Amino acid sequence: MSIPRLVIARNTGTRRILCALCNKRRDFTLGLELFRVDTMELVCWLCGKEHASDLVALLSLGWTASSFAWEHKKAQELSLAPLN
Ligand SMILES: [Zn+2]
Repeated sequence: MSIPRLVIARNTGTRRILCALCNKRRDFTLGLELFRVDTMELVCWLCGKEHASDLVALLSLGWTASSFAWEHKKAQELSLAPLN
């Protein structure tokens, strides 16, 4: 079986669905995820690691960056909050 090409794209709606490659039920995050190029179905990161480890490395960088940005925003909100 030839492995379809994968791509990073934004997942806007699906959180729990079968992976398009391993057919196992997986939890997906809303935001950046892996998809099959041909069908744009979600692919879990375990399959991604096996078939497109460079994309998974990029994705995990993106996740780290977005959680850092979220923490930074929270910290800013806290420091701007009026003291009671
Ligand atoms: Zn999979």
